[in-house]
Parts: sequence; C-alpha cells; structure tokens
Amino acid sequence: MNVWGYWKCPYCGEVVRADHKDCTKCGASVPNDAEFFMDPTKPIEYVDKELENDEANWLCSFCRSQNPAQAEVCENCGALRETAKGVYEVKEPKKEREHEKPNKPKKKRSRLYLMAFLALLLLFIGWLYKPVTREGEITGFEWDRSITVEEYMKSRESDWYVPNGAEVLSSSREIRSYRRVLDHYETKTKKVAKRVQDGYDISYKNLGNGQFKEVKKPKYKTVYEKKTVKEPVYRQEPIYDTKYYFNIDRWKAVDSLFTSGDDQNPKWAETDLPTSVESPKYGDKRQAERKETYRAIIKDDKGNEKKVEYDYEKWKNLKVGDKIEYKTRRFSDDPL
Ligand SMILES: [Zn+2]
Ligand SMILES: [Zn+2]
Repeated sequence: MNVWGYWKCPYCGEVVRADHKDCTKCGASVPNDAEFFMDPTKPIEYVDKELENDEANWLCSFCRSQNPAQAEVCENCGALRETAKGVYEVKEPKKEREHEKPNKPKKKRSRLYLMAFLALLLLFIGWLYKPVTREGEITGFEWDRSITVEEYMKSRESDWYVPNGAEVLSSSREIRSYRRVLDHYETKTKKVAKRVQDGYDISYKNLGNGQFKEVKKPKYKTVYEKKTVKEPVYRQEPIYDTKYYFNIDRWKAVDSLFTSGDDQNPKWAETDLPTSVESPKYGDKRQAERKETYRAIIKDDKGNEKKVEYDYEKWKNLKVGDKIEYKTRRFSDDPL
C-alpha cells in the first residue's frame, strides 16, 4: 500500500501533503525541485486505491516541472514527455547504508582471522607431536627373565557349558545377561522454543511522485511453549541360563622363577622341572611360559638417563659407549 509523503513550502515552511500542488498555508505552488519525504510527526495517510502510482515523476527539460508518469505532456508548459531529461531522483536516506556497509566486511575479516588462527594452531600441534630423533650414549644394561611354574591339580570351576573331562557337581538357574524391555510410557512436559511472528518492521520507499510504498517485513520473536511428550521407560529384564559347577583337572600357574641382572649375560633360572609331562598326576609340576625383557640405559644429550627396550638379537650386540638414536616427542624426554 502507498502512503502520502510531504513537501516543504520554501516560502512559509509549511509541511504539505504531496497530493496538494499548492501550499495549504500560503498558497504558493509546489516548487519544481521539491523533495518528498515522510514526516514522522504526521499521521500515516494511505493513498486511495485509484490514486496509487508507483512510477516516479518525470522532469520537464524546459521548465523543470515534475509531471506524473502518466502525463504525456508537461502539465506546466506543454512540452512533450519524450524531451524529458529524466525522472525524479530518489535520494535514499544515508543512515541505513552507513549502518550496513562497514559492518559486513568486518565480520568476514574476523572469520578469516579465526580460520588463519586455527590453521596455525593445527600446524603447531602437528609440529609439537611430530616424532624427533635424539642422540644418546649407552651407559649400561638391564635384563629380566621369568619362567612360569604350573601344577597339575583338581580345579573347582563353573561355566555355562560343561568342558570335556569335567566332573559336574551341581547346576543352577542363574542370571546370564540382561535385556532392555519397554516397561511403560511416561508423560513429561517439555519447554519447546518456537519462533513466532511479532508484528512488522515497517519502512517507506520513496516512489518519487509524492507517494511512498509501505514495505512490511515480518518481525519474529522466540517464545517457549510447554509440550507434553510421551517418553518410553525401559527396564532391565534378566535372562536366565543353566550354570554348571564342576571339578576339572588342569595345569595352573602356581609360581614364577625370576632372574634379572644389569650386565649382558642373561640367564634363565635353573630348574629340573620338565617342560611336558605325559599322563600327569595331581601335584606334578612343569615349566610353562617364558618371558624376557632387555633394556639399555641411555644417557641423553641433556645428561638424563632413560631405559630403552630392545629385542634380544639387537640388545646382545650393543656396547657401553655406543651412540644411539632414539625417537621421542619434542616436549618429552621419554623414548617412544
Ligand atoms: Zn507556504
Ligand atoms: Zn514544462
């Protein structure tokens, strides 16, 4: 919808509604170069539908009068419209432009800074965590070895199945696992954010003929609504199964034969125990799993000592005084 703008009489200063061609106070005619504006102190007055006009006035090149777009000849001097030099130039209020323009590049620029900062941070973290090679000198050695000792015995055990050779003593129904099942629904009230229209932002666009177009932009606000929802409530339902209690003959770890040293002559503990026993009896013992670790003591270029683990083949050929390289992190002294 269009509303009436105003012009200001240059003789008496009266603000005159644009549908009047003469000043309502002193009778002077609207000047040729009159500018139309909205006056916030005056009420908004809508243009009758049949008078609505969205086209700017044209300016007579002979007498500089403003003529409505629909006029074929100048209403003042009769000159043909074709000789017109142009139409009323709408001067947009400057305020809006000043508000918008300097802000946008700033936002873009700050986002750019943030991206650059994140990129640098990633590079820095990559640099920090990149393995570095340090040099050190071997000053000593360490080793340890162990042999697990197992004994053949009657073992009391339980399981969900009966293993071969087991002597079942009892069984019972027991909870083996749980299953999540739907128990019921619970009604809950939730606060839900909702965007709703809250009137309009109204602005007026100068049409260059004394009329202004009313531009309505809907405004929004956030309101919170209470909403009832049904939420499922689950419970854990036990699943039963048969558990067996039984005796079974087994080799079980009962001891560990441990040796260690700070030289390069590792030894296994001396033992007469066999590594395998045919048709064992209760109380028989045997050697089982063997474990071994070999370390070199290294003094780094800062004078700190640390231990680096090696496999045996490499370790036995190292010598005190050997320069070795090891990998670590930039912020740490510990070998990787
Ligand atoms: Zn006047
Ligand atoms: Zn004219």
